[in-house]
Amino acid sequence: MVQLPGGVYIDGSLKRDFNFKPITGLLELELNECATQVSQHPELTYSEQVTNVLCQALDLLAGKKVTKKRVKELSVGDRQFLMRHLAIHIDNALVWMSAKCGECSESFDISLRYSELPVKPAGNKFPETIIETELGKLKVRVPNGLDQEFVATVDNDEEATVILLKRLVSHAANKSTDAVVDISSLKKEQIALIEEAIEQMAPEVATEVLAECPHCDTGNRVPVNPYVCMERSDQNLFTEVHTLASCYHWNEHEILAMTRRRRHIYLGLIDRGRNMASNNNI
Ligand SMILES: [Zn+2]
Repeated sequence: MVQLPGGVYIDGSLKRDFNFKPITGLLELELNECATQVSQHPELTYSEQVTNVLCQALDLLAGKKVTKKRVKELSVGDRQFLMRHLAIHIDNALVWMSAKCGECSESFDISLRYSELPVKPAGNKFPETIIETELGKLKVRVPNGLDQEFVATVDNDEEATVILLKRLVSHAANKSTDAVVDISSLKKEQIALIEEAIEQMAPEVATEVLAECPHCDTGNRVPVNPYVCMERSDQNLFTEVHTLASCYHWNEHEILAMTRRRRHIYLGLIDRGRNMASNNNI
């Protein structure tokens, strides 16, 4: 069974299970609706849309019913992992991507399957640890969906990093208030220590692959978007509904309620029938 690379603590124990709903045309439409809302509702951030998509697609998370709160509290690595797994759950087909060589500027294509991309599980201290600094003992935790939402509106990268660190780091001794640490008073080496601790703990999915340019043999890092299911178009779905409705005269709702797998079986049968008919005409 596939499990989250990080997970959530529920009543003191780490839960890593999740389950997606079966993919039907209706769910595909809903997911598409969530993904396109970013352009229609500028007040929503991309991370809020990821939360909406996951709330629609997940059946269970950590053995419980899915809630927005729980999805937002997942670590960023787990959220990216779930979004990639949703893409795999919808269709684990071979994907072709175009890249441009950084050395010779020629374009080339690479193919991959999202299910074959590596995942780094959370470190043993996940999701928070205590490190020793010149400001005393500091509690450091991995970023989650709420943190992503919080910094999404900050344009300046440097400013966003400081704001994020302020959220992730607190004084370990001051349990009652989770007192804010003055990040600007920390030296570069101390910040590096904090970032190292976060990296050690945080689960991660691959966001780039190494590919050799076929023209000059140079290794290139090609970005692979973990949120790729936000970019799906519903055009194919409508074409499929049209094909099935024309052939079987089922109504739109009946076709959309069908699982994607079953819809594709019927589409395959229609294709086979058409091929046989055209071969008989030769
Ligand atoms: Zn090249």
